Amino acid sequence: MSERTRQGLFELRVAIAKALSIETDAGKKQELQDELDTLQEERDRHLTMISQALADELEKPIQRVEQIVRELQNEDLHVALRRAMDKLRIAKVGAASTRLVSQPSQPITTTSVGPLSSSSAVPASWMPNVTMDRVICHWTAGGYRAGGLDKFHYHIMIEGDGTLVRGKFSIADNVRNLIWNPRNYAAHTKGTNTRAIGVSVCSMAGAAEGPPLNLGTAPMLKLQWERMIEVVAQLCRIYDIAVTPTTVLGHGEVEANIGNKQSGKWDPLVLPWDLNASKTQAGTMLRQGVSDLLGN
Ligand SMILES: [Zn+2]
Repeated sequence: MSERTRQGLFELRVAIAKALSIETDAGKKQELQDELDTLQEERDRHLTMISQALADELEKPIQRVEQIVRELQNEDLHVALRRAMDKLRIAKVGAASTRLVSQPSQPITTTSVGPLSSSSAVPASWMPNVTMDRVICHWTAGGYRAGGLDKFHYHIMIEGDGTLVRGKFSIADNVRNLIWNPRNYAAHTKGTNTRAIGVSVCSMAGAAEGPPLNLGTAPMLKLQWERMIEVVAQLCRIYDIAVTPTTVLGHGEVEANIGNKQSGKWDPLVLPWDLNASKTQAGTMLRQGVSDLLGN
């Protein structure tokens, strides 16, 4: 065999090997494509099933609320809506924790919105099993709805209709030493955030302590103050926090009661429905309310 022929054969073998490998690649590619198509179909099927299940599950509380609204159409609209929302919240908590048990709709009684009723219940998932030392109460200095930035500062917010809103950070995020990394916990009280839960009433936009006192465009509502007390009582119960002036207090009391300097904070201690109450008295009323609910 001449050198030239040998060279020719060698090139031919290379060409055949290349062609075979291209074919193999193409086959493999098709195989992977088929596999991908199957996975995508499966994913689509699961997504459809999940959306259908969610829609089915949501239908029950929606029908229940419609039923309640019908039953309450003779009552004050605000009260009716609040009760409807309470019921929806109960249904939502139920759906999140256990399977929704379908029940015949019950007659509405005033006890269903009484103190520590499930209407004001803080969902268990909002209260991780950690050690917390205190609860500090605030207002957001905003409107009656929780704003996006508010959610970075507080663990739980109370909107104008009493709705509870969960903040961006978990209560557990305030457990560790917070001095050097201020971007990963709820920063609600200067120098006093470690093991401190921040609860805030969505209110008091544009308010100023004065004098003259200016309550702004969204004065704190009594309903919100009462719901805040219910929330704090539940937190004290779950976290075994004693009700004292250094463990359950308003932001406006932190400097005096704990000794950590705050700059001119007065939240949430001016009560628009009881302007004669001093901030100290409001703090005492907060603790008294919590103690009463805890049965102390
Ligand atoms: Zn505050």
